[in-house]
Amino acid sequence: MIPFNFDYFKPETLEEALKIYSSEWKLGKKVIYLSGGTEVITFARGGKMTFDSVIDLKGIPECTMLEMQGDDLVIGAAVTLNRLVESNHFPLLSKTVRTIADHTSRNKITIGGNLMSKLGYREGILPFLITDAIAVVYGPAGTEAMPVDNLAAAELAEGQFLTQVKVAASNLDLPFVSMKRTRSSKVGYPIVSLAALRKEGRIRIAFSGIHEHPFRSAVVEGILNDETIEDQQRIDKAIAKLPTNVTDDFIASKDFRKFVLNKLLTEMNAVWEGSR
Ligand SMILES: Cc1cc2nc3c(=O)[nH]c(=O)nc-3n(C[C@H](O)[C@H](O)[C@H](O)COP(=O)(O)OP(=O)(O)OC[C@H]3O[C@@H](n4cnc5c(N)ncnc54)[C@H](O)[C@@H]3O)c2cc1C
Repeated sequence: MIPFNFDYFKPETLEEALKIYSSEWKLGKKVIYLSGGTEVITFARGGKMTFDSVIDLKGIPECTMLEMQGDDLVIGAAVTLNRLVESNHFPLLSKTVRTIADHTSRNKITIGGNLMSKLGYREGILPFLITDAIAVVYGPAGTEAMPVDNLAAAELAEGQFLTQVKVAASNLDLPFVSMKRTRSSKVGYPIVSLAALRKEGRIRIAFSGIHEHPFRSAVVEGILNDETIEDQQRIDKAIAKLPTNVTDDFIASKDFRKFVLNKLLTEMNAVWEGSR
């Protein structure tokens, strides 16, 4: 049970959602947006989050669409992870999100909720980081399109919400690997999770689990693409260039995360080697 009262709204348009946000906010209320609601409900039950008003985005067509529009795949923020897996428009995304939580939870968890999650993992963003995807947000300044990278480390402005993510069709079917290691079972937060693809002969790669937020690093990518040095040296050099504050917590120590990453990068090289 959620131990406090709140008002629930389910608007049918972007404009209506923002109007509700503004009027509730002006009354001094704490307002939040919600897509799947799994995290909001869990946090509220556990006393980690409070709010006065909730705006559910699942009634807004722009947030629930999943279709090709011209040269882009358009993914609504309120599309569930299972719908993404089943549609398989973007195989790397399908493979990545099917490792998040269990099947029953993925019927509720949405891609927007994963990208905006307060938990640091947000593995659903990895395929978008390496395909130069565009995040579409709506808010007081109207509709804005921005590189999805902006969502990885920063919060949206007051009143803004994520409506869609767009991926160019030319990036949907590139050769990829998606790898994840957890502490014990298949379902669990990642010690390390990575998504990589090859485009025009170069590896693009993004990580979750090893830093407080998911990231793609031009420096690490540059080293992994340097064919003048041998595989293992490349991996060691890349790991040495990780952000300095590698996550060190109850799931895994900093050194263990680096060890696991070393293994995954070796496996990734073997996969690419086999496909040459
Ligand atoms: C059993 C379990 C295992 C999990 N394992 C993993 C894992 O391995 N890897 C991983 O990455 N995650 C994992 N998670 C976390 C999970 O992916 C997130 O908690 C989940 O994605 C939240 O999705 P939701 O749609 O229910 O979000 P919600 O509960 O709706 O929202 C989550 C947050 O995002 C905000 N929000 C939601 N939609 C929008 C929007 N459109 N615009 C702006 N803000 C918005 C909300 O205000 C809230 O702060 C796991 C969760 C569970 C329950």
